[in-house]
Formats: sequence, C-alpha cells, structure tokens
Amino acid sequence: MTSNHRLIPNGFCWCGCGREITLGKFFAQGHDKVAEAALMAVRYEASVPRLLAEHGFGPDKSVTDAAVNEGGWEKCPRGCGYVGAPASVTNHIRKHHTNKES
Ligand SMILES: [Zn+2]
Ligand SMILES: [Zn+2]
Repeated sequence: MTSNHRLIPNGFCWCGCGREITLGKFFAQGHDKVAEAALMAVRYEASVPRLLAEHGFGPDKSVTDAAVNEGGWEKCPRGCGYVGAPASVTNHIRKHHTNKES
C-alpha cells in the first residue's frame, strides 16, 4: 500500500495557502501539519479511528503490521512490541534498551 507515484513539488505550498516556497519542498514551515489536520477534518471527521476504518484497518487488522510488511517499518529487535520507521526504532532502542547500566 505504498504510494509510489512520484509527487513533484512545484514551488508553492501544498496546503494551498498560495505561499511560494523553496524549490524542492512541498510545504512552508509547519504547513504539512496544517494540511494533514485539514484533510483529517474534511475526509475523516478529524477521527483517527475513522481514518483507519476507511482504509480497512482497525482492531482486527493491524495498521502497524501492515506498515512493517509493506511500509518499510521495523519491529524492535528486543521484542518489546515497539514498531516504527527504522530511524524511530533506532531511537527507541537507544532510549529504552541501552545505557541503562552505563
Ligand atoms: Zn501553506
Ligand atoms: Zn523495544
């Protein structure tokens, strides 16, 4: 379920505010969060459960399992159940599984 079609930034903020931004970027500072929240409000009643359900995920179909299988996420190798993007897992391990006894 990865969206592999390439999006090209066109020099204007993709939140639709019309601001001109650095070429190669999609958003003015912080506007990605605004756009995300706006989409949530418009399409999903600002509800994450609704967002998940719309995409077929929920308590019976784990979105995090799907992220691991299809989205390039990783599971914490220490088996604590944490999942996240590789960088997040690295951070998580550093925070929660190391330098306890250093
Ligand atoms: Zn904007
Ligand atoms: Zn862990």
